[in-house]
Amino acid sequence: MKVLKFGGTSVGSAANIKRVKDIVLNQNEDVVVVVSALGGITDKILTAAHNAASGTGDFHTELTEIRQRHDETLRELFNGSGSVKEHVDVLLDELEKLLTGITLVGELTLKTLDRIAGLGERISSHIVAEFIGCPRKDSSEFIQTDSNFGKAAVDFGVTNNRIKETFAGFKGAAVVPGFISKNAKGEFTTLGRGGSDFTAAILAAALDVEILEIWTDVNGFMTADPRVIRKAYTIPEISYSEAMELSHFGAKVIYPPTILPVYQKGIPIQIKNTFDPENPGTKIVKGVKNGFDRPIKGISSISGITLVTLQGIGMVGVTGISMRLFTALAKVNVNVILISQASSENSISVAIEEKALDVAEAAIREEFEKEISAGQVNKIDLEKSVSVVAIVGENMKHTTGIAGKLFSTMGKSGVNIIAIAQGASELNISWVVKNDDLRKTLNVVHESFFLSENVELNIFLMGIGTVGGNLLKQIKQQQERLLKQNHLRLKLTGIANSKKMLFNRDGIEIDSFKEQLDASEKTSSLQGFVDEIKEMNIYNSVFVDCTANDAVADLYKEILSSNVSIVTANKVAASSEYDNYAELKKIAKKKGIKFLFETNVGAGLPIINTLNDLVNSGDKVLRIEAVLSGTLNYIFNTISADIPLSKTIQMAKDEGYSEPDPRVDLSGVDVARKILILARESGYRIEMDDILINRFVPEELFAGTLDEFWAGVSELDAKFETERQRLEAENKKWRFVAKFENGKAEAGLQEVDSKHPFYDLEGSNNLVMYTTERYHEFPMLIKGYGAGASVTAAGVFADLIKVSNI
Ligand code: ADP
Ligand code: ASP
Ligand code: MG
Repeated sequence: MKVLKFGGTSVGSAANIKRVKDIVLNQNEDVVVVVSALGGITDKILTAAHNAASGTGDFHTELTEIRQRHDETLRELFNGSGSVKEHVDVLLDELEKLLTGITLVGELTLKTLDRIAGLGERISSHIVAEFIGCPRKDSSEFIQTDSNFGKAAVDFGVTNNRIKETFAGFKGAAVVPGFISKNAKGEFTTLGRGGSDFTAAILAAALDVEILEIWTDVNGFMTADPRVIRKAYTIPEISYSEAMELSHFGAKVIYPPTILPVYQKGIPIQIKNTFDPENPGTKIVKGVKNGFDRPIKGISSISGITLVTLQGIGMVGVTGISMRLFTALAKVNVNVILISQASSENSISVAIEEKALDVAEAAIREEFEKEISAGQVNKIDLEKSVSVVAIVGENMKHTTGIAGKLFSTMGKSGVNIIAIAQGASELNISWVVKNDDLRKTLNVVHESFFLSENVELNIFLMGIGTVGGNLLKQIKQQQERLLKQNHLRLKLTGIANSKKMLFNRDGIEIDSFKEQLDASEKTSSLQGFVDEIKEMNIYNSVFVDCTANDAVADLYKEILSSNVSIVTANKVAASSEYDNYAELKKIAKKKGIKFLFETNVGAGLPIINTLNDLVNSGDKVLRIEAVLSGTLNYIFNTISADIPLSKTIQMAKDEGYSEPDPRVDLSGVDVARKILILARESGYRIEMDDILINRFVPEELFAGTLDEFWAGVSELDAKFETERQRLEAENKKWRFVAKFENGKAEAGLQEVDSKHPFYDLEGSNNLVMYTTERYHEFPMLIKGYGAGASVTAAGVFADLIKVSNI
């Protein structure tokens, strides 16, 4: 014999009840079928009852919906007529009468609530029994409880005997309502919310069946709630204790008291999916033996919690405080979910449901009234809106380092842990976080312990000009390959241009990002973008700056402080005052996140990374010499007898190498910023003002307007041509070289002969030469395209991959 329990969704509609019938008729054994109310009905009944009791007394909206749901189901299953319709109507009328009664009295006792709450099961069991074509047996006639309305305790002596009598000689199938019971006086009670599972377990144990099957709407017990963690997967086997712990801490898939009766009899529980009956689901058994022996089996959570902390020096060493606290709470029926006490005994914290807070606080104040007035207990601290999270697994006790890994994962994600508790059985570690941090917590912990196959990187991109636009194209191109080969999922979670911004936790489709951004209702604002990132609070997030904007760079501190990594093509921050640069690096280090700006020098060339590798491995940089301006190099490679200086500048602009105002490049400021960054990354404290720039264009041309500049620059052509001829005769070339040596940096035009490595530097290429203690006689050279949107985007992309740590 088997007991099968079908939950609210499984019997939630006519179509689903048809599935239930198929499953029941497919069984080869005798089956007792326990059913919940149609999904959502119990909630509606309770809301109606509370509305009835409230001043307005208006329960009709709910009642109408309840009637409609049942009528619709009856119509589809039985064409809406027959004896079952009469049974259902009688019960619905009873509901209406009770609600009217409550309205008149204006009061709702727990006793009345229990009478009314079970009506959903009383109705659904009639419908399912009739549809399957088997008898209905009324659990309120055989499950006897005490009078603890709302969550009554079962009298197993009486109940087991009655079940045995009721089912003596039983064959075939029968349907039983879950959740309901009666006390010794014959008044209706209930087994607590979610209690239909418990009804099934009571029957299974009393009838000594081979297996208890809980049919629900997911493929068994999963590593986490699949509604929150999409990557959660089914646990094929789990022990009774693990299942108990996980469900105690919020895994709703099974109601915790369900486990005990079947555990005592060694009856296995199989969790199955009504909507995927072939899926094996999860088996709950004594010892797990199929090799699924990860130290952690699952993670679960309960939100809507308050942490109550009793604090006082006067509590140290005094015995009986905890006992009095728990007794006081038990007396008023407040369930304690977690307890945490420091060994100093200076404080003790308990996590309770927020809705029980008023009752709990009053009980504690009353119990400790004397200590409070004597100052022995000086504070009752309430931390509201928190959640309890638990990881559970029997193998934890054989594995060291779990707690370490857990808390460092939390820390890196910037989640503050408010309290911790670990049972001595080492079956469970539970901790308290703010409600706002819950989703992030569940995601990071799931990712790090259950190793969802893929690592996710959530990208917030600011600036979608040439570099940003190219980056998106490249991400789109690589997304699939990275997912397949590197198990890295790149997700665009936020994007902004100067007008609009757009966010989507599930990822913005890159193909249509422009249309989506245009259609977005959010007007762009820098602080608004950062606020949204913080608000979304997603783990593994990175802010990508593809602007050249000072104001964006001003946000970095706040972004890094919120545990979000930064990848930037914007040079402003790394070349700002040294203290700011150093602080940003320090924050990133402290938070265990990344602040990367490889593209600030030489676009996609691995210039900064290489430097970091040299320095980190103990090398010392003695000299840096570099051609760092693609524009200037282009100009000095193009200048000839036919093409004068002014023309080359125009060409560099037309080719898109230079800034719109080419003076930014000609002034050498851009090069100075780059050498500044390299000097800093080599470990030197240096400021922009320390860098000597030898300009080759007279100062006055920088002072005037752009038109004056274009007019004036051609006057230089003749002088440059004379010099150029001299250089040609000497077989030399001009290079705009940045140098750093002995803590001093400078930049200026230099004449190099044909033996110099810079001589053959074609087009707009960059070249960096590192002379270090190791690379002394022959310096290290890095050479290649140093400008252009697509190589810069590729450099940003490479930094992104570094952030993801794959
Ligand atoms: P039923 O009405 O069938 O009793 P419940 O809604 O009570 O179903 O429980 C099933 C739900 O439990 C799932 O839809 C899922 O969202 C939730 N759940 C929470 N934690 C877990 C978990 N670890 N594994 C599976 N489901 C879970
Ligand atoms: N219908 C009840 C509830 O919603 C019992 C159950 O479904 O398990 O709590
Ligand atoms: Mg349930």
